[in-house]
Formats: sequence, structure tokens, C-alpha cells
Amino acid sequence: MREFLTTERLDPTKRLVVERTKDFGEIYEVFDRDDAANQSDRCIQCGDPFCLNKCPLHNYIPQWLKSIAEKDLEFAFKLSNEPSPFPEVMGRVCPHDRLCEGDCTLNDGHGAITIGSIETHITEEGFKNGLTPDFPGVTSDKKVAVIGSGPAGLSVATYLLRSGVGVTMYEKADRAGGLLTYGIPNFKLDKKVVERRVKLLEEAGMQLVLDCEVGKDKTFEEIANSHDAMFIGVGATKAKSAGLAGERAPNVYAAMDYLTNIQKKNFKVDYEKKFDFKDLNVVVIGGGDTAMDCLRTAKREGAKSVTCLYRRDELNMPGSKKEYKNAMEEGVDFTFLASPKEVILDEAGSAIAVEYVKTTLGAKDASGRQRMEEVKGSETRVNADVVIMSLGFDPVVPSFLAENGIETNSWGGIIIDEETHETTTAGIYAGGDCFRGADLVVTAAYDGREAARSITASLLK
Ligand SMILES: Cc1cc2nc3c(=O)[nH]c(=O)nc-3n(C[C@H](O)[C@H](O)[C@H](O)COP(=O)(O)OP(=O)(O)OC[C@H]3O[C@@H](n4cnc5c(N)ncnc54)[C@H](O)[C@@H]3O)c2cc1C
Ligand code: SF4
Repeated sequence: MREFLTTERLDPTKRLVVERTKDFGEIYEVFDRDDAANQSDRCIQCGDPFCLNKCPLHNYIPQWLKSIAEKDLEFAFKLSNEPSPFPEVMGRVCPHDRLCEGDCTLNDGHGAITIGSIETHITEEGFKNGLTPDFPGVTSDKKVAVIGSGPAGLSVATYLLRSGVGVTMYEKADRAGGLLTYGIPNFKLDKKVVERRVKLLEEAGMQLVLDCEVGKDKTFEEIANSHDAMFIGVGATKAKSAGLAGERAPNVYAAMDYLTNIQKKNFKVDYEKKFDFKDLNVVVIGGGDTAMDCLRTAKREGAKSVTCLYRRDELNMPGSKKEYKNAMEEGVDFTFLASPKEVILDEAGSAIAVEYVKTTLGAKDASGRQRMEEVKGSETRVNADVVIMSLGFDPVVPSFLAENGIETNSWGGIIIDEETHETTTAGIYAGGDCFRGADLVVTAAYDGREAARSITASLLK
């Protein structure tokens, strides 16, 4: 250990831009055993590891780094798969620079340990070598219904099944995974990785009911009456509106509609052809991770030009710096300090441009963000054949919540007891984006794990 003085931080090999923009394959390779061991060997095994405290799951990071440095894959696999329901997913999609790697002691000039990439390596290499997480089979007569198959739902199901409790999962889409499947693009997370986890849960005894929207195809009450407890993980995918004139034009789209349709196209199933943007000028409004995903998807789809309009500057972008850099490399044009004012329409009512005003950033406000001021008379237009709005998400609030005494707060988030994850109705639990607002895969996974702990304690006492 402590090889950081002689071994530099190494990121996994990234595919060349000219190659990777031709398809939707993942852009990073997975470390091989030697690279993973050498990189793990850089860890100094801090007495008080900050990385672990910054990881929402409190993964046993220093311990599995040590095992990998010693080439004990089996123990590392066990350690990594215990507090995390799908480490190979988090290793790929967590914003490591803000979480574990951001707080690594070596992130002071030496270069943080590549924790995320080593985490992905452990489970991928483990699966390749026949290792699988332990499930005892359904040993209890208790049954829990899970509504929504995103990371929150998959996580609660994982930990309930590990305790021998039966799970029925209801999902309104045609595939499980939530935003892991129909949000995060393939170039960040290969869908086979998600399908493999879903299959493991089905083999462990989970009943998966697809194409079933609770509240429409099946009533909430019917499900509640046939189960001992319920978990709600319905996410937050209602697009926020910018309130711009012209934003209702037929060629102005919501980010999720675009990403979902292109993913369907990649699955080779029916999708709406209006989302084929080949040879078109695409303008994306917003500067977060979802905006980066839309921009990079449009590039791969052969758009003529792909422009991001963001009202602050590069330093103030809310998304991951890594994904911004990847988008830059792939040829996305960024227009910073540009506040969109109107979608300009032609006589037929279709969008043809976006008008924006230039902004400047001043002193920081109470929240710590720089105040933004618009520059009078700086109106500028950028041509657009299609416009994608990517301004964040609010929870969808299904009517079955209020009808069953499940309270929500002022912005629609489900209110829970943060210790137990129980909602205001006994026996019904919730977590993930429908409780936090649009957040992260890892926090949804944490909520699912903690809810399962409470449900198990209450059902198996
Ligand atoms: C484009 C995009 C990219 C992202 N990239 C990242 C990233 O790189 N890293 C990261 O950490 N996070 C990322 N996120 C955020 C992350 O995906 C979410 O925080 C996470 O998926 C939330 O998990 P969840 O289980 O709460 O909800 P979701 O993943 O939204 O899953 C909810 C599920 O519930 C289903 N559902 C809803 N209502 C019903 C109903 N009535 N009946 C049955 N089923 C229902 C939905 O169909 C969906 O499958 C991204 C988000 C988006 C939109
Ligand atoms: S789950 Fe995320 S924050 Fe935790 S160790 Fe893995 S990559 Fe880091």
C-alpha cells in the first residue's frame, strides 16, 4: 500500500472520440486486474477514511481497495456487494468527483484513488469469474409490493430478498430499471448491466409485473390488500417549465421524451420518429447532467450542430465536470452566460431559433451562487430546427397518495420519517427521487436499502 508516491492516478482507457461518437457503447473500458491492483495499492488506508464518510452508502472502500491490491477478488466482491445493491452501476454513474473521490485524502495534488472505476472492476471481474451475490430464496410468508423499478425499487427489493422476504415489483414501463434504463444513456451505462441485476432479482424470487401503472392498470388498494407492506419509488420525472414564449411549439421537446425515445430506438422497439435529429440544428436549454446526456445523444444521432445554452458560466454548471468535458471532446458547442428569452416561431408555428440575452455574474447571494444580471440590448439568436428543454424535474404526484393518507410537501415530495422511511400511512414506505426530488442513483439506492431494513424489522419481529 501507499504506492501513491511512485504510481500516478490512472483513469480507465477512454474510447477515441471518432470511434465513440459513432455508436452508443460505453466510453470507458473496465480496469484489468493489474491496473485495478496497482491503483488500489495507492491507497494510504487513512485511519479516518473521508471517502467512506462521503459515500451515501458508506461503502467499505479502504477495505475493498486493500483486498484488490492483494488480488483477493472474492473478498473484495463480498465487501463491495454488501452495503451496495449494484456497485458496478454506482462505479459507472456516481459523480465521484463530488462524493468519495472528492474527499479522498490524496485529492490534494497527488490525485484521488480511482474509487469508482475500481468499484466497477470488482463486480464486473467477479461476475466474469462466476461470483454472485448471496440470496437465500424466499423463506418468509411475508410479501412486499414495490411500485417503481428504478434504483430505489431495485435496492429495496435486493435487501428484502436477502432477508428472505417475497417481493412483487410493479413497473409501468415495458422494462425495469427506471432512469437506469430510460434516462441515463447507454454510453454511460450499458443496459445489459441493468438487465443482469434485474435477472438476478427474478432468480432470487422477485415477481416483476411490467406494463402496469399503479393507479391505472391496477389499483393501489388492491395491491395494498394483498401485501404486508409497500414501498413507493415512483421517481420525479415531470419536466420543469421555463415559461418561455413559444415553448409549446411542436418541435420543442422535453429532455426525457427525447432520451426515452432514443433508448427505445437502441432497443430496436417502436419509437417516435420525430426524435430522429439527423442533419438538424439542435439547441438544448439547460446545463445539468440531463442536458449533457441530450447533447451527446444528439451528436451520436448525427445532428448537424448541437448547441447548449446555459445562463451561467462553465464554473457554475450544476452537472458533473467529467461529463461536461466528455461533451466538449465530442464536439458540443457551449454558449455560456446566455439566458433564453423566447423560442422564435415561423408562420406555421414551428420553432426556428432561440432568442437569448447575455448575462454577467456578480457577487454571491445568500445561497452562495453568483448573482446573475442580464445585459440590456444584448439579444442574440441561435438557429434551431429542434429545441430540447432540460431544466430539471419535479415529482409526479399520483392521486393514490392523497387517497391513501400519504402526505406530500409543497413541491410534491413524499413526506417520510427519515429514520424508518415510513410515509404518513403505516406500513407504506417510500424513497428515491419521489421523496428527495431529482437526485442521484446512489441516494435512491441508499433509501431503498434503509427502507428494507425498517420493513424487515417490522415484518419479521
Ligand atoms: C437523463 C438523466 C441522467 C442521469 N444521470 C445520472 C448519473 O449519471 N448519475 C446519477 O447518480 N444519477 C443520474 N440521474 C439521476 C438518477 O437517475 C435518479 O436520481 C434515480 O434514477 C432515481 O431513482 P428512483 O428509483 O427514485 O426513480 P426512477 O429511476 O425515476 O424510477 C421510478 C420508476 O417508477 C416507475 N413508475 C412511476 N409511476 C409508476 C406507477 N404509478 N406505477 C408503476 N410504476 C411507476 C417509473 O416508470 C420508473 O421506472 C440522471 C437522471 C436523468 C433524468
Ligand atoms: S457508491 Fe458512489 S460515492 Fe460510494 S464508493 Fe461508489 S462511487 Fe463512491
